[in-house]
Order: sequence, then C-alpha cells, then structure tokens
Amino acid sequence: MEVDIVISGGLLLTMDDNYTVIKGSLIAIEGDKIVYVGQSTGINEQIFSAKKIIDATGCLVLPGLVNTHTHAPMVLFRGVADDLSLMEWLNNYIFPLEMKYVTKDTVYWGARLACAEMILSGTTTFCDGYFYPGRIARAAIESGLRIVLGLGFFDSDEDIDSAAKKHSATARRFIEKWQHISPLVTPALFPHAPYTCRPEIMRRLKQVADEYEALFITHLSETKEEVDTINERYGLTPVKLLYSHGILDERTIAVHCNWLNEEEIGLLASSKAKVSHNAESGMKLASGACPIHELLSRGITVGIGTDGCASNNDHDLVREMGTVAYLHKHITGDPTTLDARSVLALATRMGARVLGLEREIGSIEVGKKADIILIDTRTPRLWPLYNPYSQIVYAACGENVTTTICNGRILMENRRLVNLDLDEIMSQVESVAETIRQDELIRSRFD
Ligand SMILES: [Zn+2]
Repeated sequence: MEVDIVISGGLLLTMDDNYTVIKGSLIAIEGDKIVYVGQSTGINEQIFSAKKIIDATGCLVLPGLVNTHTHAPMVLFRGVADDLSLMEWLNNYIFPLEMKYVTKDTVYWGARLACAEMILSGTTTFCDGYFYPGRIARAAIESGLRIVLGLGFFDSDEDIDSAAKKHSATARRFIEKWQHISPLVTPALFPHAPYTCRPEIMRRLKQVADEYEALFITHLSETKEEVDTINERYGLTPVKLLYSHGILDERTIAVHCNWLNEEEIGLLASSKAKVSHNAESGMKLASGACPIHELLSRGITVGIGTDGCASNNDHDLVREMGTVAYLHKHITGDPTTLDARSVLALATRMGARVLGLEREIGSIEVGKKADIILIDTRTPRLWPLYNPYSQIVYAACGENVTTTICNGRILMENRRLVNLDLDEIMSQVESVAETIRQDELIRSRFD
C-alpha cells in the first residue's frame, strides 16, 4: 500500500481513550490522515511503501500539542516590560506600545516568529486572538500550523443596538470569509472580556457564533479586580453574568477563570463551557490560578495555554505542562494532584476537546489528522527512561522536540524547520524591536 509517511520504531503514546502505549510502533500517514497505527513487526512495514520513512528509534511519539490560548504577535513585546503589576504592565506599557507598533506588517512577522517557535517546541494547533487576524491566519497557513482564529471585539461608546448590529455584521463577514479558506483555519469570535465588552453585545455576538456553530472565546475572571468591577457594575460575578445572558455552553471557551466560587464552578459544569488554563501567565502577573483540579473533578473540559509572550514569555507548551503540574501540587499541598499523564492529556486530547476538534486531532488514531511530534530521549536531560509521561512533563522542554508533523506535512525534522526561513523572520522582527528600543517609554525603562 502506497503511503506518504511511515514513522517506525518509537515508543508511541497514542493518548486515545484507553491511553494505549505501543513499544516499537508503526504509524502510516496518507495525505493529511493517519491510516495505520500498530506495532512494527517487520512484516507490516513491508506492506507500506512510503515516500518518506522516519526512524523514531529512541523517540517518544505523541500527538502534536494544542495551545488553547495565545496572542501570537505579542512576541514583538517579549521581555519589554516585565516584573510589573498587571495594571501598570497593561496600561502603561502594553496598550501604548500596541497603539504605536501594531500594524498589519508587524503582526504578520510577529505571528511568523510565533509559529516558528511553536513548531520548534511541538505545538501543532493554537487558538489565537489579536489585531489583524487575517495576517495571523496567513502566517499560520504558510507555516503549516492549525489555528483557531479568533476575531477580537472591544466595546465602544455607541448605544447597544448600533454597536451590536455593527459587530454582528463584522462577525458574520469574518466567519464566512474564513470558514472555507483552509482546512487549517477555524474561525471563532473573541470579545475581549466582560469588563471591556457589555454583556448585551456579547450575547448578540454569541448568537452569531451559534448561527455558524463557531466557537465563542472570552477572557473571564482573570483578576480579583475584574470580579470586583463586574460585581459593582452588574451585581453578579463574571461567570454568573455570562450565564445569565445565555452565553455559556459547550462552544464557549472561558480563558483564565482564576477567581471562581463554588456556584460558578457549578455553572461552568452544568453549561458544559470549556476552560483554558494559563498557569505561567497567571503566576507571572500574579493574577491568580484557575482551580483546575476542582474543575476536572466536576467533569469540566480544561485545556492549557501559554497566553501572549508579553505575559509568559514563551510559547513552550512542554515547559507549561511542567508548570501546570507543579502549580496544582503546590496549591493543593497534595503531590498526587494532576499526575503526568493527566497533564499531557490537557495539552493533547483535552485541548482538542476545548477547541471542538476532538474528532480530528488530540490523539494518534486511524482516521485522525496526522498531527504528530517526536521527542528524542537520547540526551542527558531525558536519560534514563522509566516513565515516558513523567519524562515529558517533569524533565523535557520544547527544545527536546525533534520532529513536528501537522496535517500530514513535516514542518520540522531533526530540529530543522522545513519551510520557514528563520533568519529572515528573526531579522524582520529585530527591525521592529530596534524601533521599539528607541521609544522613550522603553528607553527610560532600560537606562
Ligand atoms: Zn489572553
């Protein structure tokens, strides 16, 4: 049987429903799909005549990682204003810098750098929201990555009806434009947060999202201040506010959820809303931590995300997995909380469910899209090997990923990016950074 790619000899963590592990595995890929998964017997290898054979000896083979929350072009501001309080960071640095330096062009090159970084650290799908989403989509398609592309909304001073009509029309145009352009792109709506977007506007946008069965994403309960603000404005907590407007359901992704009371956890569970947990971002900005150990015990679908690189400061989901595990053991005072396999599930099969893509990605099974990564364990950091899940979550970092395949296409092989010119991307971003360094706001910070 003629296939495009055969991956043979690795220790395969399928992350399927039974968490099947196969030693000396054989995977065959035809086009964008996985057509065979099994043990390599030598005989079955001869059945496949592959255009490309990947020898996975010494490697862990696992599904491509799913980053459920990013603002990819924010790599432009990586490290520009760290160790500040959240509001000072946002109002005095990030917002003014965005006003000045975010253009279609800088977004494109920032997104390309982010895509390169993600491929190099094993992420094959990311869920993004930022200005000029069309440019981000272009960067993702050119890079070969899968993207859930959020169109952002901020409120204005307009009356509710006019604003809702205008935003709804923009939302429809956006979804209709992007829903059939590429199999790698899934359009979604992303009103920023209930403190920057009135709930009536959010409700109308949710109705538009529902017309197209599109995802509806929003930041929710990120900080204690946000909870106080929403309580003052509406007399409700943020989760309850969205619930009362009929916004929470299985196609809603609530990002952060750092401040939840018992009732709100119950509402997230009963509405089947999904949650994106951003551990490093919440820790670095000291904005809080989502109690995912409780959410998971209530059956809520949770994925993990890095958030933007101004608040993380990287897209390394392998390292993020370690942080998630450490954080929740620390919070609960219980080292049995979130074992390594459960954490890898958050970054693969659960992340896919958060994005509504579980039928296509998140595990290595026949019929699914071929989003697969290899981690070579033949390096001091990952040697010796007892438990592959532990090795990934507690010992590995993104740079241990050696090969990345998305939608049946090899994007990185043996640490070499196949179709991106990294020198060009880095020099384009450097020219933006050079301008930013000259800005008075930044110069004074580093003087
Ligand atoms: Zn965010």
